[in-house]
Amino acid sequence: MTTAASNSYLARLRPLRLPRVCVAVTGSDAAEMIQKAEALIRDNSFLEFRLDYLHRPALALTKIKQFTEYHPHMVAIATCRRAVNGGKFRGSLVSQLDILAKASAAGCQLVDLELQSALRCRPQQLQRLRAGAALILSSHDFRATRKLEETLQKMVAISADFYKIVTTATTLFDNVVMMKFLEKHSDQHSLIGLCMGEQGIISRVLGLRAGSVFTFAAVSEDERTAPGQVTAQELQSTYRIEQVDAATRVYGVAGDPVAHSLSPAIMNAALRRETVNGVYLSLHAKTLKDLLACVRDIPIHGLSITMPYKEAIVRHLDNTDSHTTKIGACNTVVRAQDGKLYGFNTDAAGVVRPLQQRIVLEQAKILVLGAGGAARAAVFGLKERGAEVYILNRTAGPAQKLARQARARTIKRPDLKKLAFDVIINATPVGMGNTRESPLNEGEIKARYVFEMIYDPPETRLMKLAKAAGAEVIPGIEMFVRQAARQFEIWTGKPAPWDEMLRVATLTLQERAAAKNAMNNSTKR
Ligand code: NAP
Repeated sequence: MTTAASNSYLARLRPLRLPRVCVAVTGSDAAEMIQKAEALIRDNSFLEFRLDYLHRPALALTKIKQFTEYHPHMVAIATCRRAVNGGKFRGSLVSQLDILAKASAAGCQLVDLELQSALRCRPQQLQRLRAGAALILSSHDFRATRKLEETLQKMVAISADFYKIVTTATTLFDNVVMMKFLEKHSDQHSLIGLCMGEQGIISRVLGLRAGSVFTFAAVSEDERTAPGQVTAQELQSTYRIEQVDAATRVYGVAGDPVAHSLSPAIMNAALRRETVNGVYLSLHAKTLKDLLACVRDIPIHGLSITMPYKEAIVRHLDNTDSHTTKIGACNTVVRAQDGKLYGFNTDAAGVVRPLQQRIVLEQAKILVLGAGGAARAAVFGLKERGAEVYILNRTAGPAQKLARQARARTIKRPDLKKLAFDVIINATPVGMGNTRESPLNEGEIKARYVFEMIYDPPETRLMKLAKAAGAEVIPGIEMFVRQAARQFEIWTGKPAPWDEMLRVATLTLQERAAAKNAMNNSTKR
């Protein structure tokens, strides 16, 4: 690293040991930016001042100086990216350089200059900039992850202390490309590399172990300075980025969409509680092919499979458990040491376990509403435990087929009034989201327990009707957490911290409901 070693500024910076996460701070004016920085500095000692977000960046410099003097142990980057290069600064190149030089005099130990601007600078201009701060030369591709080698070649022709290459992930595999690139070049150059976009999460969490000197995070969800940026809080507490190392096993939930999955919150909480060196990510896979390529290359040790891949993944697996074979759908994949993929279905456990805690399943009379994937898991799981299972579905065909396969019975809706059950299970989506529908009417609920598979909303109309009819309700979140707990056990061989997972899942749902209410209220005003 000849360029870096020759820079006396970097030599002074090195003992500071750069923290691994830099939080990008914006603001509508200098006062707001500093106010945010003050709020962040207790938990984050590494901040990037996005001066280009300010209407008049130069006016912030005195305040930044006071701030850096007051917090001598912090590390600050000053960025004033020009609008033509993807930032927001509308001034000239000369004013950009002037602001960056003043920011370094105000205590920012690093300055970020984009490649396009640097290419237009004279060597002396860059040298002057590096006299006061370490220079991060940056390149951003807002569309794709491509030409990394070429870009690096162009960049290293200019002396800088760090080379930052940020691209956009349009597939999960783009993360693999970025991480291989980091692994290949981080011995020769101080690199910062990551992919933006929802699909870039892998590189944000695993990029450090591939060789990125640090990574970037947002202050909060609505203050992202780059698409797909994760919040500092998420990187630190959910993904425990400080602990991710070469031995960290990678797990994830794969589907399309997956943005609202509860799995990362509860699985990372479980990994933390059981001190498993693992991290669990949200993998937005637009195709199975893309997902499977990542499983091999990253490598990914375990996957939760969700819509729409539960059925389609089965034929890509080397072996499956008996539940997966019978149900015809897989929700859990394990990658063995030899790279082989094994499939399991834990949805059956998600239904059976909560019921076993409450009743004896042998000969229990259970009605399953629906005949789709979740209903199939319930019917096979319950039949295996000796329950007497009845199926009621909107369309007769799938119900009859399932009943034949599982040796269960079908019933017709008018018969409901005459029958009483130990448990009624709703395995249809009726009542999900904002709908206030129920798959059964008041007079049709004659059961000791009503098991609702839906968990969003936490209380459906069916649950209310069931309570009014004197039944005990089992909420969908129990199934969700139980099937996740079983996945955890399959992957780690350890008992899952089920109560901690349920606590985190419930809390996350409550927080989301509160955020939704707040948003609705603000739009009403
Ligand atoms: P699926 O494979 O699409 O099956 C849906 C089933 O519901 C089908 O039998 C379908 O009947 C029936 N259905 C759909 N719309 C209906 C309507 N308007 N009226 C009456 N019946 C209707 O879905 P799935 O994967 O089995 O999931 C079913 C539900 O379980 C979803 O709400 C899902 O979120 C929930 N789930 C929860 C968990 C958990 O962990 N808590 C796990 C898995 C699933 P037809 O055959 O007539 O189309």
